[in-house]
Amino acid sequence: MNILSAIWRLLGMGAGRAKAAAAAPQSPLLGAPAAWPQGMTCESCGISECEVEEPVGNGQHAPYRLCRPCHERLLNLSLRPLEFFRLAAIHGHTYHLHDDFYDDGNGEAMQPRDAVVVDAERFPFPVLDDIKGDLRTLVDYACVQYTIADRVIALLKAHDQAALLAYLVHKTRYSRAIHYQTYPIAARVLATAAGEWIREEWENRRENEVWIFAEAVSRCLPPAEAFNMLSTEIEKSSGRQLAGQIGALRYLESAKALDWIERMAPRIVNVSTDWGVLAAVSQFSWPRAESWLTMGRPLSLVALDALMYCTCPEHSNHPIFWFRQRPPILVEAAPVAIMANRLTAYLEMDKAPRTRGTVAVIIDNLFA
Ligand SMILES: [Zn+2]
Repeated sequence: MNILSAIWRLLGMGAGRAKAAAAAPQSPLLGAPAAWPQGMTCESCGISECEVEEPVGNGQHAPYRLCRPCHERLLNLSLRPLEFFRLAAIHGHTYHLHDDFYDDGNGEAMQPRDAVVVDAERFPFPVLDDIKGDLRTLVDYACVQYTIADRVIALLKAHDQAALLAYLVHKTRYSRAIHYQTYPIAARVLATAAGEWIREEWENRRENEVWIFAEAVSRCLPPAEAFNMLSTEIEKSSGRQLAGQIGALRYLESAKALDWIERMAPRIVNVSTDWGVLAAVSQFSWPRAESWLTMGRPLSLVALDALMYCTCPEHSNHPIFWFRQRPPILVEAAPVAIMANRLTAYLEMDKAPRTRGTVAVIIDNLFA
């Protein structure tokens, strides 16, 4: 029995139950299949019986399953803090739950259509120190955060790792919409212990999900396998979409990405800064920069962007958020005067305003 089969047995969610749900009768309420088990409680208040299904987004994910009063509060953007918490932990930051409407730090409704949020104080948002010992609520807490705090990750590491994996699998199975949070939790807390699950999830990936999988694939699977999976998927992108997908290779911080960029050079159009960012975080070296400057466009422009990022003296407020947490470094740097001379020489063959501007910034950085 593999680990996932064991988890399904643990959760009591074998194939038999899945079949039973698929064969369930039509709901008398909305004409949708009655997918919830008899007596299921409302996902929001956790008290009343589930009475209504409300589609999420375009309906490609599990619907909200609610009692009638919670359904009304959802549509009126007037959920109580704990109800927002519970629904966001299941369905993610959907239209009804996004941060224009609720504060993800305390669950407060920001634009309620009801005159007041009824009994808000009786349904408070969880306090981290109170729930840190409860694995499931702690995972839910992480899922509700837009950016999962390092402290929450550290607290999750203190829990039983098999139980954590089981709960992540359960949550993703119940509502796949939350995968953009459960995969990064697996990556940061479980790493290779979640490898088998992430590999199975990847097999069932949908279009344009490479970014959602990127961190988990990079941290849970062997680096060579991860690079191959991600780069092969990215290469399927066409035209301008390609540059929008390449950031998925950043997590690996691998010089392999530099060889890959060279291979992709014929497909690089307009040289968006995404290429320079990827190069900068992939062990970009001065010898590689010299080689790309000699090869000319588009690689020379990618090299200049990467040099600009790597030589930036201060990354703590960098407009590219990625660099604030992981400042890029120039590997095998040459003496400053030699690098400055080579860059100035490059301007002899490429005097475009973008080129001159970037070279000026790099030289400023070098002598800062
Ligand atoms: Zn309810």
